[in-house]
Amino acid sequence: MEDVVIAGAGPTGLMLACELRLAGVDALVLERLTEPTPDSRAGGLHPRSLEVLDQRGMLDPFLAEGRPLPGTRFAGLPLDLSGLPTRYPFLLVIVQRRIERLLEARARELGVRIRRGVEVTGLHTEPVSAAAESVVVETTAGPVQARYLVGCDGGRSVVRRLAGIDFPGTPATTTSILGDVELTDPPAERFLLQRTPRGNFSVLGFEEGWRRVIVDEAGSTVADSTAIGFEDLRAMLVRVAGTDFGMHSPRWISRFTDAARQAARYRSGRVLLAGDAAHVHSPAGGQGLNTGLQDAFNLGWKLALVVRGSADEELLDTYHEERHPVGARVLSNTRAQSAMSAPGAHVDALRAHVGDMLATPDANRKIAMMITGLDVSYGLGPRVTDRDLPDGTRLFEHLRTGRPILVDASDEPVDGRLVTELKASGEPLLIRPDGHPAWDASLGREALSTALRPWR
Ligand SMILES: Cc1cc2nc3c(=O)[nH]c(=O)nc-3n(C[C@H](O)[C@H](O)[C@H](O)COP(=O)(O)OP(=O)(O)OC[C@H]3O[C@@H](n4cnc5c(N)ncnc54)[C@H](O)[C@@H]3O)c2cc1C
Repeated sequence: MEDVVIAGAGPTGLMLACELRLAGVDALVLERLTEPTPDSRAGGLHPRSLEVLDQRGMLDPFLAEGRPLPGTRFAGLPLDLSGLPTRYPFLLVIVQRRIERLLEARARELGVRIRRGVEVTGLHTEPVSAAAESVVVETTAGPVQARYLVGCDGGRSVVRRLAGIDFPGTPATTTSILGDVELTDPPAERFLLQRTPRGNFSVLGFEEGWRRVIVDEAGSTVADSTAIGFEDLRAMLVRVAGTDFGMHSPRWISRFTDAARQAARYRSGRVLLAGDAAHVHSPAGGQGLNTGLQDAFNLGWKLALVVRGSADEELLDTYHEERHPVGARVLSNTRAQSAMSAPGAHVDALRAHVGDMLATPDANRKIAMMITGLDVSYGLGPRVTDRDLPDGTRLFEHLRTGRPILVDASDEPVDGRLVTELKASGEPLLIRPDGHPAWDASLGREALSTALRPWR
């Protein structure tokens, strides 16, 4: 029997698999595609995702392949990231294809098994003893029995449907068509985003040699069953932008909408959901992939502790409790961004006022902290920030093992065999494997012993 089966080798599934293996738990990833997709898809990593990669010692190859930009956009309005309280106050422009390749390389290095060309088609639970159940995952290559199944199988998640988890939300109001193309007559700006009376268009230079063109016609949707191609993209762009920028040689044509839906529960017994399987929304602000990586980072250590028998199953409920509100907020801010992208005098006025506000440091910081996930707080306060330690190391480097850290100057013995102890001055603090506080001095020494129990 497998410990954990993960459906989907997208960024979320790969990150989760890495986390499980690091914590000593076997993970089998089932991916229906026979080869990694050549499509570019998402365009960037936010500061919190960069911190997460740093905390596992995985960041350098991403920094080497990506390009830092000091800002991003909220509903197309400029958002400055340069003053944020992080070692990485920028958007790292790096396309999803590259992100997946680097994550997959890391997963394989850690010993994750990835089976490609295998599609999850069904599931049911089966008792393994009087007290325990397993999940039987039906696949195109036969059944696989597992203790847990995590659906990281994207927005149209089969796992979500098979587990009977509702996916409430709001339907699409607009369909955007996008293409990765070459342009003979590109705009002067590397990142051009424009709102017009007919709709919005952008021309984005993620990499040399091609541009991402995205266009929508305000308030118009295209049925899922309607095929779209290069000529549809060109025709819509000409209607909205008045030019096709001489586009040719398409590499990828696709579409997305502003439909916003979220799984009602991230856990149903032995089945969990993460990433797009748990939440879909428009790509405004570039939050989807980032949110999925951070779902995986929250779930991984918890699932590993439960599988190893070090923690009770209830720990898995905290995954829903902590991540569902984060997903709900992403849905909410993308809905706001969609509303602010509509044409008309009323929205013009709204944008002018919001734009004025965002030009002030406090408002810019508030929205930037939200979009980048840096302000996410799980009860005991926000994430712990990195700092240099007297021995020349950095705090984040000590999270690379995936174990929690106890920062404490006292000589009191610690009842936690699997805890990294750091003798450092300042307030004592127990840091979870995902970099969030698990205990501080205000809770008293007894609570520390409880907090450490899973790592004894
Ligand atoms: C145009 C565009 C731009 C975007 N830009 C950004 C951005 O800048 N920043 C950002 O953070 N996000 C962005 N996103 C969103 C981002 O692409 C998604 O949020 C991200 O891909 C989600 O990752 P995931 O691993 O959860 O799901 P996916 O990437 O969808 O991966 C799911 C995997 O599961 C596999 N699968 C599906 N069904 C099965 C099955 N039954 N059995 C086995 N395998 C299965 C699929 O083949 C796929 O490999 C953008 C999206 C679009 C469309």
